[in-house]
Formats: sequence, C-alpha cells, structure tokens
Amino acid sequence: MKITFATGNDHKLQEINEISAGSGVEFVLPPEGFNPVEDGETFEENSLIKAREAARLSGMISLADDSGLCVEALNGAPGIHSARYAETAQARIDKLLLELECKDNRRAKFVCAMTLVDACGKVLFQTRGECHGEIARGQSGVNGFGYDPVFLISDRTMAEMSEDEKNEISHRGRALRKVLEFLSK
Ligand code: IMP
Repeated sequence: MKITFATGNDHKLQEINEISAGSGVEFVLPPEGFNPVEDGETFEENSLIKAREAARLSGMISLADDSGLCVEALNGAPGIHSARYAETAQARIDKLLLELECKDNRRAKFVCAMTLVDACGKVLFQTRGECHGEIARGQSGVNGFGYDPVFLISDRTMAEMSEDEKNEISHRGRALRKVLEFLSK
C-alpha cells in the first residue's frame, strides 16, 4: 500500500520507510507545491494540517508527523517551535545550551504526533510517541539531525546512535509503529 507522507524532508521519509520495512506500506513524498501553513497550537493540530494538505495535493491516503523537543526547565519550549527556534541547526543547539547553562534540571522529551487521513482529509487515526532523555552540557555525535547531538539517553546522545538504535526508541519510531499496527488490522 502506498501512502503519501506529508514532508519535504528526504531524511524523514527515508527514516520512516526504514522503520516500515517489511510492513507492506511504502511512503512517498507529496507532489510539488506541498507547503502547508503550520499554524496549529499543538503537535496534533499541526500534523492534521499537514496530512490534509498532502491528501488534497496527492488524492491519496496521507500520513503526517509533527515533532519537536520539549524541555522541562523551559516550560516545554521550544516545543512546536523547535524547527524555528533559531536560524540554523547549529544556532538552535547553541541557543538551547545557553538557555540551560545555569539549569540543573536537564530533563527533556522528543514528541511526535502522527495523523492519518483518507484521500478526502477525514481523520482515520491519530497517535503520539514520546522519547524521554536529558539535554547534554555539550554536543557529541554526527548521526541524525536537529537536536540529536545534545539529546542524551543514559550516557549517549542520539547522534552517537546508529539509525537502527535511534528508530527503536525514538518518538517517531514509537508513533509510526502504532500507525502501522492500525493499518495492519
Ligand atoms: P517538524 O516535525 O518537521 O515540524 O520539525 C520539528 C523539529 O523538531 C525539527 O526541525 C528538529 O529541529 C526537531 N526534531 C524533531 N524530531 C527530531 C529528532 O528525531 N532529532 C532531532 N531533532 C528533532
């Protein structure tokens, strides 16, 4: 079964197709012109906006995710604003480390909401995956993307894990496995 995955990010598409390998589901990019206005107030709302836009453009069942990093000492920030927290990936990490410089509470979680809609935009399934960890005091590792180099689980950052290790425990992996279970019924 082919499903449109509402992203313009090749890395994300590759990641979710790896997690789905062997499930009989193949995710494909939306047609050109996919540029939804993500003005929801929650991860769930934004994933619904993206899924509906992908379904409108592709005329196919569509899945969207919306994800981000929520830091306890920052009252859940950057949250839904994670991608726009600062100009570049490195600037976002630098800003986060600076804001947490004097904080002892380093607890944080990655959140991923996923919404599956039919070709008409009707919600078929919605779910959420979370991955709990801590923000490191410095960055390490070269794998992954975004905040991975500062997101610690036990004694390793996500950027120090292989893709398979990350997919096993990541917020996106957890949410996607629930979607695949729903689709297999
Ligand atoms: P979106 O879900 O594409 O809107 O982007 C969410 C943003 O959250 C990304 O641009 C990253 O900055 C961050 N993010 C989401 N998932 C991850 C992850 O697995 N690793 C690192 N950063 C992530």
